[in-house]
Order: sequence, then C-alpha cells, then structure tokens
Amino acid sequence: MKLDKRGIPLLEEAVRVLEEGFSHLPDVSFEVEHESLVAVLRETAERLRDNYPYFHPLYAGQMLKPPHPIAHLAYMLAMWINPNNHALDGGRASSHMEKEAVAEIAKMFGWESHLGHLTGGGTLANMEALWISGLLAPGKLIVASEQAHYTHNRLTQVLKLPFRAVATDERARMDLNVLEDLLKKEEVGTVVATLGTTATGSVDPLPEILGLKEKYGFRLHADAAYGGYFTLAENLPEETMAAYRRLGAVDSIVVDPHKHGLQPYGCGCVLFRDPSVGRFYKHDSPYTYFSSKELHLGEISLECSRAGASAVALWATQRLFPLVRGGVFAGMLERCRAAAVKLYDKLSADSRFVTAFPPELDIVIWAPKRGKVSEISRASAAMFEAAAERELHLALAALPVKFFEGPMAGVERDGETVTCLRSCLMKPEHLDWVDKIYEIIGDLAG
Ligand SMILES: *Cc1c(COP(=O)(O)O)cnc(C)c1O
Repeated sequence: MKLDKRGIPLLEEAVRVLEEGFSHLPDVSFEVEHESLVAVLRETAERLRDNYPYFHPLYAGQMLKPPHPIAHLAYMLAMWINPNNHALDGGRASSHMEKEAVAEIAKMFGWESHLGHLTGGGTLANMEALWISGLLAPGKLIVASEQAHYTHNRLTQVLKLPFRAVATDERARMDLNVLEDLLKKEEVGTVVATLGTTATGSVDPLPEILGLKEKYGFRLHADAAYGGYFTLAENLPEETMAAYRRLGAVDSIVVDPHKHGLQPYGCGCVLFRDPSVGRFYKHDSPYTYFSSKELHLGEISLECSRAGASAVALWATQRLFPLVRGGVFAGMLERCRAAAVKLYDKLSADSRFVTAFPPELDIVIWAPKRGKVSEISRASAAMFEAAAERELHLALAALPVKFFEGPMAGVERDGETVTCLRSCLMKPEHLDWVDKIYEIIGDLAG
C-alpha cells in the first residue's frame, strides 16, 4: 500500500496563506543545517517503520484510529505557530477555536451552556471530573463498574477519594441491583457511568441509573471517552440508544476526540453541565492573563500549557464534519458499528468460534471454540500470533467467562476468566474488509 501524501502540497498552500498574516514583519532568516536535518529526518522515518499498520483495515485489534487528513494537516499547519492554549496571550486564535469546538461537542450532548475544555486525554479529563466530584462531596464514595476504565481507581488514589467497583451483568454493564444495595448502605458521592467500556463497548444503563440518582441523590459522571460520539449514530440497539438519549442529564461528561473523533493523540475533553463549577479552578497566576478580560482557558483547566494545535485540528475537523445526526461523520460511526455487527454475525454463526454478547458499539469479542476455558485461552493467544503472520492484527483481552453465557454452554469451566480476542472495528473502511478479515480467521481456524 501507499501512504496518503495528497495533503503535502495542500499544506504548503495553507502555510502560504498563514504567512500572509505576518507579511508586515521585518524579514528574518532562520538557521537550519539542511543536510543533517535531511539525514535525521530520514533516519526518523526508518525508525517509524517499526509499528503495526494502525491505519490499515487489517489492523483490527486495539482501540486505535487514524486521524482524518484534515486533523493531521490542520495540526501540522498550527505547528508554524505552536500556540499554547493556557492563555490568550499564548494562543489567541486557537483558544477561540477551542471554545467553539468544545461548545459544539457540548451541543452534541444537548447542552446549550456548559463549562469545558480540551485535555491531554481521557485520563486527565476524568481526573478533572472526579476532582470536582470530590470537592462537591468531600470524603464520599466514587463508584464505577468493574468494567470501567482502570484509571478511575488510580485517579481516586491520587485524589484521596474512596473508590468502590460495582459488579457487572453478563453483558459487562453495571449491575443495577448491586449498585442500589451499595446506595442503601453507603454514602455515595458520585457514580461513574461508562458509555462504551474500553474492553467490550458495553453501555451502562443510564436511564435506570438516572432513576436511582433521583431516589438517592448522587453526582453522575459519564465516562464516554470511547463511546461518546456514538450519540450521533442511529443504528445502535434500542437499549443503547435509550442510554445515549439521556446523556445530557448527567453532571459531567468526558469524551476523547482522539479516540473516535478523528484527532491525533493529545485530545480529550471534559464538560460540566453547571458552569458554576468554574469557581473551583480559581487561582492567581502572577504572570499570565494580561492580554484580555475574556476567559483564558488556563483559568478553567488543571493543566497549564496545552497544545493549541489540538484545538486547531479539532475545530477544522468539526468544520468539515459537523457533529450532527445523519451527517457524514455520523455515517462513519454507523459504518464502524455495521462492520462489528457483520463480523459478529459471521463468527456467531460459525461453530468453530465462540462470541461474547452482541456488540453494542463497534467492538467484537470472540475466541476459537475448544472444550475447556483454558484451551480457549491458549487457542486465542495462538490465533493472535498466527493472524499477525498473515498481516491481520488482533488484540487479546482477559474477560469474565460469564460474558460468553450461551455460546460456552458445554465448555468445561476450568477458570473464571478467559483470554479471548478483541477487535475494535473503528475505521469506516472496516465494513469493506470484514469479509477479508473473516476469511483469514477462517483459514487459521482450519
Ligand atoms: C480510553 C479511555 C479512557 C482513558 O483515556 P485516555 O485518552 O487513554 O487517557 C478512559 N475511559 C474510557 C472509557 C476509555 O475508553
């Protein structure tokens, strides 16, 4: 295959347009030692060959998605400025672009007003949400499901907040009975609902959790780092759609533009429904914020310096692909979802494989069928290796056997967890490649 280089001349043209904005400045010559630069750049390109082909549809493993060319070009364009979105002094245009882009994301969730900003990623975004949770309900429990992202437990240690994991049902969603028992017995400050778990793409039952919020009164944070954008997709199971329809009722949301939002890494986003939580961020930096009375993003962010280029890339992407139902971007997500359903249907109809519950989003969990759980684990690891030899790149996950209820009937349970294969079909192109992916898997299964 060839990498897409069509953007390179477009970038040169865009740099020329940018340059016109500074043509009034006196000329200056920058010293670059051309020959050694060329040599090092060449060496760098050679080093980068040592990667899995994340951008190719035959990469059907971990949660990796190539940025859209508009994001990657806009990011590179911004590098001629290298703005810092901490303060308007460091990144004027890019701070305004961040505010606009973030407001569009908030609007996607139905929020006309909000407080929010971009972060280095989902982990930091969740940390800010939990930090605010802890300030609003000091010492009270933070609760998330056993399938919530592993960083919640760690972040609560950093924040010195008590944490409890709630068991999941056989579809990897938070078990409501277990949650309610806990709410009856303990002082719960915040429940974290995961909309799209990282392992299986399962969506916690948000309408019911909101019902419990009314009854018991707790803060509700939605970790939608992975799955947030699926609120635009219209081909999800009814129960999943019902959860997304209520997403705007939570107190805070995290979504990662660098997961499904077509962005390069370094782009998470945290949103609060009540803008008055901004009061907790207050600080008195003696050396920033002189250029304008307007809000500087550093006044509402835990991080100080942040890449303005991330905001520029996101803004440009949303300009090209507005975050609307029925739009081109929503169509891309729907194709990912359709690819997962197609692969799931093929594997679940094939007696050589076992599959977990049907996918809610675009992650398929499956394994070669064997007589015992331990043998399935070994066969999965072997399949992972053998597929890589055929340039099909999968991922392994250790998950509870209960996720495979029906399909594992008759399999000897010599363990509670099983190593299985996890395919994140996050590229719209995956839909056209499912047949090929299944063909390779079928050959290997013999
Ligand atoms: C990926 C992910 C995170 C962590 O986000 P990073 O951007 O990797 O820091 C948190 N929660 C969920 C549900 C995720 O999928």
